[in-house]
Amino acid sequence: MKSLQLKTKLVYLLLSVACSLVLVGFVGYFNLAAMKKNVDTLYFGSLMPLGELNSINTAYHHELEASVYRWKEGHINNEELSTNITLGLEHVDQMWARYLSHYKDSRELPYIHYTQGQIDIIKRYFEEIGFLASDHTQSSRISTRKLSNNTASIHKTISNLISYESSVAAYERSILLTHHQNSIYQLGFLLGVIIVGVMGFAWRIFMQIEQQQRQLLESAQALQHLNVKLEQASYTDSLTGIFNRRYFNLVYEREYKRAVRNGKSLTFMMVDIDYFKQYNDTYGHLMGDVALKNVAHILRTSLQRPGDFVFRLGGEEFGVLLSETDCQNTRSIGEKLRFNIESLGMEHTGNKPTAILTISIGAVCVIPTEEMNNESLLHNADINLYTAKERGRNKVIFTTTL
Ligand code: GH3
Ligand code: MG
Ligand code: MG
Repeated sequence: MKSLQLKTKLVYLLLSVACSLVLVGFVGYFNLAAMKKNVDTLYFGSLMPLGELNSINTAYHHELEASVYRWKEGHINNEELSTNITLGLEHVDQMWARYLSHYKDSRELPYIHYTQGQIDIIKRYFEEIGFLASDHTQSSRISTRKLSNNTASIHKTISNLISYESSVAAYERSILLTHHQNSIYQLGFLLGVIIVGVMGFAWRIFMQIEQQQRQLLESAQALQHLNVKLEQASYTDSLTGIFNRRYFNLVYEREYKRAVRNGKSLTFMMVDIDYFKQYNDTYGHLMGDVALKNVAHILRTSLQRPGDFVFRLGGEEFGVLLSETDCQNTRSIGEKLRFNIESLGMEHTGNKPTAILTISIGAVCVIPTEEMNNESLLHNADINLYTAKERGRNKVIFTTTL
């Protein structure tokens, strides 16, 4: 039961660890996705200053070059041209300054320096146009071809820078995407490894609990078995296999009290083998033991009712206790026991009259009361046995009073 609780707790622990890990995985995944989005926006938002560069190109075409053409065609006067040139160049300077304020990779610097140089050259060129235009003697020196070439040249330089910025951004973005993908794979792999590890560990603990439980069960069973055996051994006579004196003391007291309580009769018989000392002397101690076993076996098998008990009280003496038998049957039962032993026909030359192994029985049957002493039942059975011996042995002497 305890181990079952332990297993359930372990399953709950395992589930909560797995759930937490999956949750961590989801949180990690969503954070990575959000981070990717932010960085992505950052790259194409702040780090890709294409707006400023396009604005510079527009300023060269629509503010500066177009103003010169309009002046040449007489749509604007010298002052307006000069103002437009100043404003156009200021616009370019502002956009360029804004462009430079963004993060720049060291690899970009040569391109930037080059473009800066070109912007400076074109700036000086437009300042010179402004100067020439203000002096009408010099204004014829302003060549539209040179204007178109210079504008096309700076346009090309700025467009190259735009292409370069775009390619760098695309490259950085591909790296970012790869990193993002790898991070997701790593996260998934790591979580998978942890979950499998935790499960493996839990499985091992599970198995250990199972094994310990089995061992515990086996040892408990073995212990129980041993206990039963030990209990049996403590109540059994080792030579004959029937109940011993120790168990007799217990059963006798229990059955005596029960007879007093129920007002029922109780029979006790003291059984003793005749001339057994001589039997040992004649046939040897080992044969004596065999005879004891035979007598015990006959006594036990002759009495089969649940309230019948046969004990070896010591040496060649046996006790018979009948708790469910009326006194009028006691004599016949005693006679039956005596007869069955005699009928066995074991040779005993020292047992003079018959030359066969016999027993003498002293029996008493009473309905015991509170006032009686339970020892007196045994004592009277002993006296009756003595009488049986005196009267020639192989006899049953039976009384019903104490
Ligand atoms: P009685 O007819 O008056 O009873 O004479 P007995 O010889 O039987 O009586 P006694 O008490 O003089 O002798 C009992 C003998 O029982 C003594 C002993 O040699 C024998 N005996 C007691 N216990 C054992 C045993 O465990 N094995 C064997 N082989 N003999 C035993
Ligand atoms: Mg004896
Ligand atoms: Mg004897």
